[in-house]
Amino acid sequence: MEKRQRMRDAEWFRKEGERWKCLLCPKGCSFKADSSALGLCRVRGLKNGKPYLPGYGECVSLSIDPIEKKPLYHFLPGSYIFSTGPAGCNLTCDFCQNWSISQGSNVPTRYVSPHEMAEMAMNGKSIGIAFTYTEPTIWFEYIADCSPLVREKGGAVVMVSNGEINLEPLRELIEFTDAWNVDLKSWSDEFYKRHCGGDRETVLHTIKTLANSSCHLEITFLVIPEENDDPEEWKEMAKWISGECGTDTVLHISRYFPRYKLEQEPTPFDTLVKARDIFSEKLHNVYIGNVSMENSNTVCPDCGAVCIERSGWSVNTEGMNKGRCASCGSELNIVHEIK
Ligand code: SF4
Repeated sequence: MEKRQRMRDAEWFRKEGERWKCLLCPKGCSFKADSSALGLCRVRGLKNGKPYLPGYGECVSLSIDPIEKKPLYHFLPGSYIFSTGPAGCNLTCDFCQNWSISQGSNVPTRYVSPHEMAEMAMNGKSIGIAFTYTEPTIWFEYIADCSPLVREKGGAVVMVSNGEINLEPLRELIEFTDAWNVDLKSWSDEFYKRHCGGDRETVLHTIKTLANSSCHLEITFLVIPEENDDPEEWKEMAKWISGECGTDTVLHISRYFPRYKLEQEPTPFDTLVKARDIFSEKLHNVYIGNVSMENSNTVCPDCGAVCIERSGWSVNTEGMNKGRCASCGSELNIVHEIK
């Protein structure tokens, strides 16, 4: 079984004359038809002229995390989720907070078959599987194989993504996933090109498509001093999110720390507070993350009661009753059970 699974056919490749093209993400890696080469993500490629998936089921990390760590604050709050990811990424962010596993070569991995993964995902207190740490969409086929097995056991499937995926594969992924956190790294095309080798328009399409799908969506914005901290851009971003995704969309304003190639000092706390205030003019659920001293409680928008109390990774949901405020009964836009 294990050998068969490892040899699974690659999807999203098309022969174009004397070349093969990968259609999964906007990078559109193209390979000479009779060659052997890896795509930019290092998880997909061509071997002896045939599309193949060297990264299929090769996991960089296997651990149980609080769901808040993804971060997801409005999806089964207070739960734990088994988490893993591939050794690669289709972006090259020079500030990557996980660069040793996303950008490194010869990253140690462990092969886990989809059946084994589903067992691990539903073991103990885990509520399912989160594909995270690096970029999971480049693991399309593996996720497609794991997801039904996890769902059969009553688990949820979570994606933590940079959003750089083409529309067709995204639509298929939506069918077998339940919740996403997508990074929106800046409001500037130039930032995406210069710092990430990415394309902002694709990310906006992904976010908009998810917001209008059956999946739960939260967005993360990592604020980097002098790079994406212009309040005018924040206002534009807030306007777009509220208009396209709704004012209830959950936004995480995350603190940057110097990693990989970027050496700026960590984001000042005041900058994060200012960002939260500006985004909160358009959005109801804005949280500051990656800081220890900030309270990140969920407060009832109607009566002001604390419905979910968070301190570090400890979460108290006693103020919430089936996704509603336990004091006044108002809807909180929180997924409280797996459907
Ligand atoms: S998913 Fe990987 S191989 Fe495919 S186009 Fe994107 S970077 Fe290239």
